[in-house]
Amino acid sequence: MKILELIDVKKDYKLANKEKFTALSDINVSFDKGELVSIVGESGSGKSTLMNLIGGLDSDYSGTINISGKDLKSFKDKDLDDYRKKKIGFVFQSFNLIPQLSVLDNVTIGLTLSNEKESIKNKKGIELLTKLGLKDQIHKKPTQLSGGQKQRVAIARALINNPDIILADEPTGALDSTTTSQILDILKEIADEGKLVIM
Ligand code: ADP
Ligand code: MG
Repeated sequence: MKILELIDVKKDYKLANKEKFTALSDINVSFDKGELVSIVGESGSGKSTLMNLIGGLDSDYSGTINISGKDLKSFKDKDLDDYRKKKIGFVFQSFNLIPQLSVLDNVTIGLTLSNEKESIKNKKGIELLTKLGLKDQIHKKPTQLSGGQKQRVAIARALINNPDIILADEPTGALDSTTTSQILDILKEIADEGKLVIM
């Protein structure tokens, strides 16, 4: 079974005075674990709209999105919450790190919010940050990092709950070409380890 399947997905944004704008239509595509998939299109072509639908951030669409064979629309609020928290890891172009928190606390925020024990939380966080080559940076604040380091922190944060799917919306949009290829290598590795990475 495919981990993610979209069938006839269509997204209309509702505008003022009952007008609508169709951002996506006739989307039929499926994805497997272990794939690194790039969705390519010019600005305004609907890439972020698609990411938001897959990520369960926007439920106002028609058609079907199946997650491991289960219709996302059948998810109750609690299931949808769990899906966003545990099944999906989000990575953004602008990193979206919390400036007041240390690198380690940024990475473990998802565990903090689910009241995980301090020791377990820090162990998992340090493990991931070490894997991403940031062991020496854990006590820094995000502003003290380079762009590539910030994005690696964001990737560690996305991985903390061991999700099946990583959604990365223009993850290299703010990075230079050398750093871009480093981040792409990391995303490739994550896919090789068995996750679905959609970029
Ligand atoms: P991309 O990420 O590929 O640049 P988006 O998914 O952000 O594209 O946007 C797709 C289209 O939907 C664009 O034409 C954009 O103007 C429109 N759009 C995005 N968000 C909204 C919204 N909240 N209301 C109305 N139109 C929107
Ligand atoms: Mg976009």
